[in-house]
Amino acid sequence: MSLIPDDVIEQVREAADIVGIIGEHVELRRTGSDFRAPCPFHGGTHRNFAVIPRKGMFYCFVCHEGGDVFTFFMKKLGMDYPTAVREVARRVGITIPERGPSGPDPREPLYGAVAAAADWFARQLRESPEGDVARQYLASRKVDLDTALPLGLGYAPRGGTFLDAMKGLGLRDDVLLEAGLMAKREDGTVVPRFRGRLLFPIHDLRSRVVAFGGRILGEGEPKYLNSPDTPIFHKGQLLYNLQVAKHAIRKAERAILVEGYFDVLRVSLAGIEEVVAPLGTGLTAEQAQLVKRHTAQV
Ligand SMILES: [Zn+2]
Repeated sequence: MSLIPDDVIEQVREAADIVGIIGEHVELRRTGSDFRAPCPFHGGTHRNFAVIPRKGMFYCFVCHEGGDVFTFFMKKLGMDYPTAVREVARRVGITIPERGPSGPDPREPLYGAVAAAADWFARQLRESPEGDVARQYLASRKVDLDTALPLGLGYAPRGGTFLDAMKGLGLRDDVLLEAGLMAKREDGTVVPRFRGRLLFPIHDLRSRVVAFGGRILGEGEPKYLNSPDTPIFHKGQLLYNLQVAKHAIRKAERAILVEGYFDVLRVSLAGIEEVVAPLGTGLTAEQAQLVKRHTAQV
């Protein structure tokens, strides 16, 4: 399968009517600005499955399947990513240029490891006893779990359960190290990078999780810790929430730049989607360029 250029994937995503497409598989009913249906994944009868057109995503509050229009095809119909993009493109009438065949992306294992970690962290926030500290913290900041979970927030417990879980999934140490999920101490032993932290997933422009920003809960330094730069994550070249905000930025012809993850959460909960934050650094020239590609008004 040939590689599809990022800007074409973007065009397809923007042209896709996620409500219409998912509505062919389930009976959606409007609820406020969102749409609800019985979940096509776990097969319940209650309307726990939400399609959120302004974010271009879906999420089930019971089985926690979620994603964008492409992930829907991947999860529902078992397509791989390029096939899902081509299928949506066909429906919206966009022709995807064929390129010469290329090998698989050598970074694929890193994307896989970070995605597996994100699922595991989200599960800890939802249901683990250790995750209680994070659930209480969110409550103290007046953020419902029903708001936090669709955004992919998670909890990294203290101790070594994370590494055991990742090894149980067959992920090797060298991949976990390269993906920035594990750190090597001076004595050569390895530890999870994130311990006792509430985690915000950081997405690239294709909406793939590539890194995390973690806020310490309880004792510990620093207060915020991000993933290190890796082959799939370059801090200075991404902005938090840009994968969601870029559509709203274009529509509103402005971008709102705030300081941190919680600020983004708050502004977006107020119904303003064109909001982004730098990743624990000052705004870099590359990030400024990135925003300016979408609007002149910051
Ligand atoms: Zn479900």
